[in-house]
Amino acid sequence: MGETHAANNHFDLVIVGTGSGNSILDERFAGQRVAIVEKGVFGGTCLNVGCIPTKMFVHTADLAATPASAARLGVDETLDGVRWPEIRDRIFGRIDPIASGGRDYRINHPDNAHVTVFEGLASFTGHKTLSISPNDGGPATEITADQFVLAAGSRAVLPDVDGLADVDYHTSDTIMRLDELPNRMIILGSGFIAAEFAHVFSSFGVDVTLIARSGALLRGEDAAVSERFTEVATRRWDVRLNRNTVRAESDSRTVRLHLEGPDGPETVTGEVLLVAVGRTPNGDLLDVTKTDVSVVDGGYVGVDEYQRTNVPGIWALGDVSSPYELKHVANHEQRTVQHNLLNPDDLVAADHRFVPHAVFTAPQIAAVGLTEREAVRRGVRYVTATQDYADIAYGWAMEDNTGFVKLLADPDTGLLLGAHVIGPQAPTVIQPLIQAMSFDLDAKRMARGQYWIHPAMPEVVENALLKLDL
Ligand SMILES: Cc1cc2nc3c(=O)[nH]c(=O)nc-3n(C[C@H](O)[C@H](O)[C@H](O)COP(=O)(O)OP(=O)(O)OC[C@H]3O[C@@H](n4cnc5c(N)ncnc54)[C@H](O)[C@@H]3O)c2cc1C
Repeated sequence: MGETHAANNHFDLVIVGTGSGNSILDERFAGQRVAIVEKGVFGGTCLNVGCIPTKMFVHTADLAATPASAARLGVDETLDGVRWPEIRDRIFGRIDPIASGGRDYRINHPDNAHVTVFEGLASFTGHKTLSISPNDGGPATEITADQFVLAAGSRAVLPDVDGLADVDYHTSDTIMRLDELPNRMIILGSGFIAAEFAHVFSSFGVDVTLIARSGALLRGEDAAVSERFTEVATRRWDVRLNRNTVRAESDSRTVRLHLEGPDGPETVTGEVLLVAVGRTPNGDLLDVTKTDVSVVDGGYVGVDEYQRTNVPGIWALGDVSSPYELKHVANHEQRTVQHNLLNPDDLVAADHRFVPHAVFTAPQIAAVGLTEREAVRRGVRYVTATQDYADIAYGWAMEDNTGFVKLLADPDTGLLLGAHVIGPQAPTVIQPLIQAMSFDLDAKRMARGQYWIHPAMPEVVENALLKLDL
């Protein structure tokens, strides 16, 4: 083992974080002495406070929003009510037992006799030496290991706003468990988490005020998508662009944010404030530099293509090391680390060529590959084409007037460089484009080498492909 610590506190493998990190262990690790450390709820962000509950709320919100869009198709519906406690309890009534079942499995199941679960905050105190402060307040335990997997995720960032720390604010960790729906909610932020919660709560009847520092929402998207989304959002919510938040204050019922904007100072109020201005990797909580692990721009743990840090035997995956901050990326990297732990002489590299993402707001958004802005910045030659949902048969059926698919392709090879979808079912509609990019299928063959079911939604993709000047 090459370490000189007391044998009972020395492990073959220590995993920090039970999000994607927890999925590393299977029967192939049965011969190893393993520890897994978790400071919070078992199962990590996606299961407990991220992808899964948010999308369960989004689906419910889509249903609640239907009457508002049905009238223009000649169907008069009314929303009779939103039973928030039932909505919330259905979602967490499903999720919480999965989290506690996962914990119970690791702690009590005979399959895990070789696994020790530590419930506490881990931080490195020296080379490959981890101190764990238990959640129950007991004395810290020090452990060492031959190999570590850092899978400690990320956390919500708080902006530096005077008075914010003294205000009763929420982050995505707490907002989904509100006791009751407020009448008014302020959402500070303009990224995907802000956009998703704005859709959820406004669909449930909450007046939403969205505050953005810059002149557009979802600025990371292709400019055409960001611009379209900002237009639609501004019609639906009280969107304040180009605002600096200078001070926060509250009394027992209301939160007030004092803003500076293009027209001078202004104040917004709400009963609930959601802060959703971004996330930061948890490498600092873990004090990774004490074990000589390097941190790169943005605070991410630095890894190579095999998910190795600069310290032999220390690996990292997911949000702690990945600027993508997406669950499907964390899972892919987890499979990469798992393989590499088991096959040290046959390492595989993680594949980050075509990482897609989606924003489950309204309208839905999905993207993969280069934005037009990135193509220009990188000096990449491209052709581009845009197809509106409004001009395909299923778009007529839905009377859609905001959605489109925008493609970028290489004029020499015909291969797709980027795809951007805003509109109904965007995260589903984009999947064949991700497949084409991942398997080097050029746009012409993709368009004409297969049937496209008529008159289904993917015809918007077929028509966008055919419009590319290749
Ligand atoms: C509101 C929201 C919605 C999202 N929606 C989507 C989506 O739709 N699609 C998508 O792909 N992604 C989404 N994400 C992102 C996704 O949840 C993350 O990318 C993913 O969960 C990261 O997994 P991970 O294993 O890296 O980290 P996590 O799942 O965060 O796991 C890390 C674990 O490590 C523990 N930990 C951290 N530090 C320590 C320490 N020092 N000691 C002990 N334990 C520690 C944490 O408590 C946590 O349980 C969303 C995120 C949020 C917040």
